[in-house]
Amino acid sequence: RIVYINGEYVPESEAKVSIFDRGFLFSDAVYEVTAVLDGKLIDNAGHLARLERSCAELELTLPVSGDQLTEIQRELIKRNGLTEGGIYLQLSRGNAGDRDFAFPENTAPTLVLFSQARALIDCPKAAKGMKVISIPDIRWKRRDIKTVGLLAPCLAKQAALAAGASDAWLIEEGYVTEGSSNNAYIVTEQGKIITRPLSNDILHGITRASLLQLAEDAQLEVEERNFTIEEAYAAKEAFVSSATTFVWPVIEIDGQAIGEGKPGPIAQKLREIYIKVAQAAAV
Ligand code: PLP
Repeated sequence: RIVYINGEYVPESEAKVSIFDRGFLFSDAVYEVTAVLDGKLIDNAGHLARLERSCAELELTLPVSGDQLTEIQRELIKRNGLTEGGIYLQLSRGNAGDRDFAFPENTAPTLVLFSQARALIDCPKAAKGMKVISIPDIRWKRRDIKTVGLLAPCLAKQAALAAGASDAWLIEEGYVTEGSSNNAYIVTEQGKIITRPLSNDILHGITRASLLQLAEDAQLEVEERNFTIEEAYAAKEAFVSSATTFVWPVIEIDGQAIGEGKPGPIAQKLREIYIKVAQAAAV
């Protein structure tokens, strides 16, 4: 695989980052993942806009423009012959030369991007749905910033796998915040889509923003409010969204079947519409 690091395209074995890089020492870094379908970037403008916001929140300066980032993403797609999968992008505060909590002055940031080939359209979890467990949300209070401090979601995902599930829904004060790496939704008996409103408690999903717009366009009712895990158990449908999953139905939570225990019509419809519209708008 050819990867990008600080202005250069090199084989992955030649891409090296210092042990004093603050991304490595402090998770002092932000990231984005953009899906690729038919060799084109999906919803990329939203991802780059969120990257800029994450950077601003942490006083990180992007060394290249948004247009240049898109050029790098496209170049990686080309050099790796990527048709379906994702492009990962990470910007850290860089090599500070030593370990010190305070931000160093005049340190060049580290920018890396790499591609990941993966089947996104034709995947078993989209077709069959997935099982999730609920688990306390032990993350920090700025989940709106997409940082690489991802140990809590790693633990959540690992606990889910150990329990025979695929993912975890995170619970805070009785309410579902989101999935370990996706936004969470339920559908009520009346067919209303419920998802937690935007705040610092969750990542402002780019796929979420697109989906809510598409749902509205399709005359589906949406309500942004907190929901409990008990409400989720009793829901007609449940699903998650993220850049590389698009929409995956949730068919079981904590061992309880959701609805009929199979992918629901609203989740399936949203997945279809999202893929169709996103593909048509891909660049
Ligand atoms: N929530 C969390 C915690 C995530 O890590 C992600 C994606 O990685 C999402 C939500 C979904 O965001 P997006 O749709 O922008 O990929």
